[in-house]
Amino acid sequence: MIYRLAMNHVRLLLAATLLGVVVTILFERQFGRSEIPFIATAILLLVMNLRISRFTCPRCDSNLFLRGGWAWPWPNRICSECGLDLSQEPDTPV
Ligand SMILES: [Zn+2]
Repeated sequence: MIYRLAMNHVRLLLAATLLGVVVTILFERQFGRSEIPFIATAILLLVMNLRISRFTCPRCDSNLFLRGGWAWPWPNRICSECGLDLSQEPDTPV
């Protein structure tokens, strides 16, 4: 289901963020500077987040992360446009 895929995406982003924070702290301790891992993490998160546009409602094509014109860090379980229960939808390729 599209909702589960979107939640997996959120978990992956969270894991990458945590990893980035840990690597940045270790880098800072080891070398006394942290710009490189910090920038690398920011770019990685940006690139990973390009996938977010693929998580759309199978009925009306509304993005799962959009609510009232704003992007949110968590996906809608119920489509904000047409009210479709996205957690009950069959698997669709993303
Ligand atoms: Zn919809």
